[in-house]
Amino acid sequence: MDQSPFPHAARHGGGWREWLGLAARNETPAADAADGPSGNPTPRDLTPREVWLPAKRRLMAQVADFLMDHDLEILPFTLAVAYDCVTGGSPRLAQRILERTEKGLPITLKWLEEANSGQARDATAEAVASLVGQLEDNLSDLGRTMAGVRDANGTYSVALQDHVADLERAGAAPGGTVPAADLIARLTRLTGRMLDHTRKVEADLAGSQERIGALQAGLDEARRMANQDHLTGLPNRRAFDQLLDRELREAKLNGDSLCVAFCDIDNFKRINDSHGHPAGDRVIRHVADTLGRIADARCHVARHGGEEFAVLLRGASLAESWARLEAAREEISQKRLINRTNDTPFGRITFSGGIADALVYRSKSAALKAADDALYAAKEAGRNRIVIAGEPPPPLREAA
Ligand code: GH3
Ligand code: MG
Ligand code: MG
Repeated sequence: MDQSPFPHAARHGGGWREWLGLAARNETPAADAADGPSGNPTPRDLTPREVWLPAKRRLMAQVADFLMDHDLEILPFTLAVAYDCVTGGSPRLAQRILERTEKGLPITLKWLEEANSGQARDATAEAVASLVGQLEDNLSDLGRTMAGVRDANGTYSVALQDHVADLERAGAAPGGTVPAADLIARLTRLTGRMLDHTRKVEADLAGSQERIGALQAGLDEARRMANQDHLTGLPNRRAFDQLLDRELREAKLNGDSLCVAFCDIDNFKRINDSHGHPAGDRVIRHVADTLGRIADARCHVARHGGEEFAVLLRGASLAESWARLEAAREEISQKRLINRTNDTPFGRITFSGGIADALVYRSKSAALKAADDALYAAKEAGRNRIVIAGEPPPPLREAA
């Protein structure tokens, strides 16, 4: 039996490095085409279609093998991951998959989602780092231009002052050393040079301003992307951590109350299992949209991960904050969603929540833990309810 963690790698002949896309890109299609099925033709004898068809088939087979070997569902997400891994588009992810498989650990959808979100974070961080680098270069160009302006201004001012003094002397004493006409000619030349220089500086400054403007727009977009969850459009966990720090600071400064809550969709695995991952994604979006509607300037709703959301409510008491979440819980639990791809009902979608007063704990992490413990208590009590930290779970309020 084939003991390789990637049995199909051997079948495709290129070894696991090539199979995973870790081999150099130029090692593939031309060589494949040359040993095609029809005897031993020289590359000259082959039509472009004959050259590329075996390569395409091989790529399709590698993508399929990846999904089969790891027993993964065929989804847009897993297809994209498989394609990236076999074509070398995600060498880091491919390497992690190899390491994990060598340890005998499975490549599951959940693991791929986590590994991939790490990759996305890396890519965003790299994009931001590159933009920051360009911004720094442009700022130092701007600094050099400004320093040049100062130097030139100083030089021209001294020269002008000298000429003006000469002019005054020439005007005061007709028999002076330099005739006034000469001085005027020199002044005119100097002024002309100054004007040329000023025009060049203006053009340099305008160019710098334009480049910095474009970079700022790029940075704003990168910052927005780095803080936003792709699936729901809500702030992501990273943004939530920053929001929590900011809100804690401001709440303490202004004497406002601040509550923190975690909400988690109930039995979500069942939705994925019976309706598939893309349908699961739509359910996450539906819950995100409903929860997101309670957000305003003082209430933030973020996707904290998977099917879990974090909420921050400032300026509302614990009881008022609870009531706001409870209204969202009730609204979601009353809807009956249909899977529109096959018209089957999803059944009742519910979520549980845990909420805590963020200001009564010693630390931020203690407040988060209190909210998380309350969420756990809500799950333990039968789900579909919001528990206040330190209080007994409320009874289940069945929808009418
Ligand atoms: P509980 O009521 O105790 O919360 O049960 P659960 O089934 O919701 O619990 P669990 O946290 O074990 O399962 C969450 C599942 O959510 C597992 C994971 O595969 C899935 N998941 C995580 N992220 C996503 C995603 O972005 N889309 C989809 N469709 N599923 C996801
Ligand atoms: Mg859950
Ligand atoms: Mg969960």
